Amino acid sequence: DSIQRLGVHESVSAVFPPERLDAALADLDAEVELVGDDPDRVADCDGLVTFAYRDYFVDAVEWIHTIQAGYDRFPLETFESEGIVLTNSTGIHDDSVGETVAGYMLSLARRLHTYAANQQAREWDRPDWDEPFTIAGESLCVVGLGTLGRGIAERADALGMEVTGVRRTPEPVPGVEEVYSPDELHDAIEEAKFVVLAVPLTDDTRNLVGRDELDAMADDAYLLNVARGGVVDQPALVDAIERDAIAGAALDVFENEPLSEDSPLWDADDVIVTPHAAAATRDYFRSIDELVRENVARIGADEELHNRVI
Ligand code: NAD
Repeated sequence: DSIQRLGVHESVSAVFPPERLDAALADLDAEVELVGDDPDRVADCDGLVTFAYRDYFVDAVEWIHTIQAGYDRFPLETFESEGIVLTNSTGIHDDSVGETVAGYMLSLARRLHTYAANQQAREWDRPDWDEPFTIAGESLCVVGLGTLGRGIAERADALGMEVTGVRRTPEPVPGVEEVYSPDELHDAIEEAKFVVLAVPLTDDTRNLVGRDELDAMADDAYLLNVARGGVVDQPALVDAIERDAIAGAALDVFENEPLSEDSPLWDADDVIVTPHAAAATRDYFRSIDELVRENVARIGADEELHNRVI
């Protein structure tokens, strides 16, 4: 088997211009085609690179590569029964998301988000003496120690933080002083100044953080979510913030995206809202180019695919 024709679905434009990936893949030993959202053109391809999912993909192609790490939007059971191969883009977001999370923590501690908001109103408003703190010496609990979690942990360690983590296997992770198992989640999060969620959305992790977990956290702690909105019980989070059960949050992902205009999260105190952009970088298409290239070669050589989900 080999890939003769590879389609690039127009939905990748949520992350980069499809033409950039098309140009990067120009020397590939396969035809690369921008297929728009046209079922007939997709059906002419053996493989498809995409951001979105469409029902017509199932009968059209044999291999789908998603440009995201999360694959919760794809019908895995259907793919399995129809023999469709799915590969994802985990492994590439450690730097981008790691830097975003470092930025969240620095902003919350150093109050940069407040000054940026005040600047809009040309307001010179110095913080209360006990508002700012430094993240050096503060603790961070990283829930999920895969690509994202490790990228975050490494940076937090370099910034002088005390890093703990939650993972399903107990092996040590660089930069992480103590590793807890998922059933010790409460112990792991109750001491931390910052808790960051970096797990995939699965049946096990849906609503992983709800009222009980938010109450287990310290009332001066912050919840950071760069995983998926469904990992947090969002109404419980809004409630926890309103009753000061935690100090605040930095959220890149939400139950429904875009976050609705009337969500109380937009103007809650000490809540940073980012538009599912924690992993955004102008070099994103280059990482996808590498992943796709690797798997086209592996398909040609009849080897096991890299980042295979199904
Ligand atoms: P990954 O597969 O490298 O890491 C996920 C880790 O979570 C794995 O180590 C896995 O063992 C662990 N895990 C799974 N269930 C767990 C549980 N119940 N408790 C503790 N650990 C558990 O994936 P990744 O590339 O690090 O991405 C993780 C998720 O983050 C993705 O699935 C995606 O939903 C999300 N993500 C978001 C953005 C963004 O832009 N905000 C970017 C990339 C990824």
